[in-house]
This record gives sequence, C-alpha cells and structure tokens, in this order.
Amino acid sequence: MVFKRDLCSTEIFDNALKHIQKAYGFVEISEDIRKILEHPKEIFLANLPVEMDDGSTNIYPAIRVHYNDILGPTKGGIRFHPSVSEDEVKALAFWMTFKCAVVGIPYGGAKGGVAVDPKNMSAHELEHLSRAYVQAMADFIGPDKDIPAPDVYTNATIMGWMMDEYNQITRKQNPGVITGKPVHLGGSKGRETATSLGGYYVFLEAAKRYEIKKNARIAIQGFGNVGKYLAKFLYDDGYKIVAVSDSKGAAYDEGGIDIHKMLEYKKAQAEGAPTKKSICDLSADGTCLTNEQLLELDVDVLIPAALEDVITKKNADQIKAKVILEMANGPTSSDAAELLKEKGIIIIPDILANAGGVIVSYFEWVQNKTGLYWEEEGVHSKLKDKITKAFDKVHSASLKRSTDLRTAAYIVGLLRLKSALESRATEKHLKRK
Ligand code: NAD
Repeated sequence: MVFKRDLCSTEIFDNALKHIQKAYGFVEISEDIRKILEHPKEIFLANLPVEMDDGSTNIYPAIRVHYNDILGPTKGGIRFHPSVSEDEVKALAFWMTFKCAVVGIPYGGAKGGVAVDPKNMSAHELEHLSRAYVQAMADFIGPDKDIPAPDVYTNATIMGWMMDEYNQITRKQNPGVITGKPVHLGGSKGRETATSLGGYYVFLEAAKRYEIKKNARIAIQGFGNVGKYLAKFLYDDGYKIVAVSDSKGAAYDEGGIDIHKMLEYKKAQAEGAPTKKSICDLSADGTCLTNEQLLELDVDVLIPAALEDVITKKNADQIKAKVILEMANGPTSSDAAELLKEKGIIIIPDILANAGGVIVSYFEWVQNKTGLYWEEEGVHSKLKDKITKAFDKVHSASLKRSTDLRTAAYIVGLLRLKSALESRATEKHLKRK
C-alpha cells in the first residue's frame, strides 16, 4: 500500500515554497541559506500493521517529516486522513517551521500523518493505529527532539495513547513528548480550544484594522476542533455565522446558525473517533450546500478551517468575502492569493491565524518540563499576549514594506530563522550539519 497521492508529486510543497520566495525580495539572504530553508531535513516512512476487530491485519502508510530544527526541537501535528501524502506533510512541516518563527517560540517545524480513513475504524482499531505510529517513529520523536500534537482527525485521546506507548517503549515518564494530551495526563488547560481562541484574538485585531463590524456575516468551512470552537467564540461574542460545513457539506442560514445546537449535535461518537453525523442534517430548510458553494457565499468574512488548497485560481474569481481568516493550513494557493489581492481581499495568513495551537502546545511542554501547571486564565492571557504581539509585528511589517500580510509574516519568520542560522554557525559549518 502506498500513499494515495503520487509520492512524486510536489505540487502542494512547491506552492508552499512560493510564499517564502516572495519574501526573499525583502530580506537579504544567501543562496546557501535559501537551499537549507527549501528542503526538509529528514523524512521517515513506515508501513503500520494494524490488527482490526475481525482479526485481520491492515497496513497503513505513515510518515514523519522533520523540516528544520534551527530554532529548537521540531514540532507539528499528526494527521489521520485518507489523502495524506508525502507532498502534503512536507508542506505542513514547512508551514510549522515558519509558524513557530513568526510567533517567536523555540521550536523547529515537523509534521506527520497516516493515510487512513479513521471514520471507518472502531475506537479500538484507532488505538492500535496510534500506538503503531509511535512504535514506528519512537526513535525520531522525543521531548527534546520532535514533539507531535493533534491535527486533522486526531485528538487528545489519541495523544494520550501515543504518550503512553512512548513511555512504555522508553520505560520512562515523558509527558513532554507529545502535546494536546488530556489534562489528567499532563495536558495544558486551554489546549483543546487554543487554536480557535488564538484565531479569535487575531480576528479581533483584524476587526479593528479592517473595520469588521458586529453585523458581519461569517462562513466557516470545517467544524472540527478548529472550526467549531472558533464558531463558538464568534457566536458567543455576537457575530452572525451564516454557514458552517463538514466533509459532507454545509448548513446555511441567512438568519444565523445556532452554534450551540450544532456543537451538541456533532459531539464525538466515541472516545477518539470522529462522529459520522453531518452538519447538513441541521440546515435551516433542509438544503445542504457543497463545500465549494460555502466558499463562494456572499459573506464579509470567510474562514477556511478544514484542509489545504481549497481556494485556488479555479474559484478565486468567485470568492466574495472581504476578509479571509486562514485557520486551516495552506487553504489558499499562491496564485489564488495574487488574484484575491488584486480584488482587494485581505488574507490573514495561516502561519499567524492558526498559531494559537502551537503556542499553547509550547506552554504545555513548558509545564511538563517544569512540573508546574497553570490555570486556564493564565494560559489564555499568555496566549492573547503572544499572538496579539505577533499580529502587531506582522501588520507593522506589512505597512513598512507595503506588502500583504502573508509576505509580511514570511519576512518576520525569515528574519528570525536567518538570525538563528547565522548565530549558530558560519555558513561553511552549516553546510556540514
Ligand atoms: P478536525 O479533524 O478536528 O476537523 C476537520 C474538519 O474538516 C471536520 O469538520 C471535517 O468534517 C472537515 N473536513 C474533512 N475533510 C473535508 C473536506 N474534504 N472538505 C471540507 N471539510 C472537510 O481537524 P482540525 O484540528 O480542526 O484541523 C483543521 C485545520 O486546522 C487543518 O488544516 C489543520 O492542519 C489546521 N490546524 C489545526 C490545529 C489544531 O490544533 N488542531 C492547529 C493549527 C492548524
């Protein structure tokens, strides 16, 4: 069994690189450093044998990419999704590298994944799969080496199984090997909602700068960990969410969706396993829009919070939102971003907008290392402080250099990586690392 997407395809990764290539125009950076930043440091592949409930064994392809560790141990989520590919995970690890650099946390970038459809697995099978992933990758992860976290279709329960497996292999207690764990296993208070809360703080800053009013109409693609809590924060603050979607389609209500009702309906079906219930069941008049239609709705703010590459040059023309808050990683292709910019659409880039998750993962790791645990209010206020400062820095860089927010974010990240690279070693020495 191989990854579903062609292993030789580099489309997503090449597209991701275009963002830093644009930032090179603003930062003096040598050809050698560019080469380092444009290649993942190491990639690990494995085939995971998993015993199914009927006694048979299935094989699932798995991957872990360490992109760059110049700022510290690498950090990045693990995705369980049928379309996971080497190309996608490389791009996700690249984005993690820049995300950590933009918000100023001492981590490099990594990412992992398994090509699997977890919706067709029992909780038991999912646990086997999660443990098999750690068995395969145990030599490449560790609290001071590479620290995974949740991503699409993985969650706190899965992180708990993974930490337990790692501890059994190493015969040690290593809470800091993984973040996004359940609180009773050393997880941080506030981690589950951190990506969304960070996105909400970024949204509030953007609302001040770009005059987003309380009566703004908002559409959110994806109602998983990131989409659902962000919907809740915005809804509780009085904003009107007119559309939300999951993988099956989108519910739409011109009068505004009752997000609490939706949250109740979409609760996880069993520990660790995503629900099979669809958002479409609760659509106002029973009609279900497609995910493509949701993106093209006439709204003020569009929030992609599912998968990458959903806004491309094919549909960029049809996007009507005035502001796009990228909560998913890589939802907008680079050529689509250019077209949207020409239309005057503001894009708040993923490496800033969704950085709340990795910021609180960092807080979790700090708590695990010190053994001192913080209250939720403390986590929230530290998150707010860090992500608001990052927003200010990116926004100022965009004004100073007269460029868009994404290029500004890459400039901020590039400057930090460049300083670290230069302080660590001469370029000659770096080449030997
Ligand atoms: P999740 O598994 O909790 O939710 C994913 C959501 O996307 C679900 O609502 C699912 O139904 C929907 N979805 C799946 N396939 C889809 C498709 N083909 N079209 C439309 N919707 C589809 O995942 P998540 O943790 O909420 O992650 C969502 C995005 O946010 C991803 O891009 C992820 O990399 C990014 N992100 C997550 C975190 C985190 O802390 N979880 C942090 C930063 C960024």
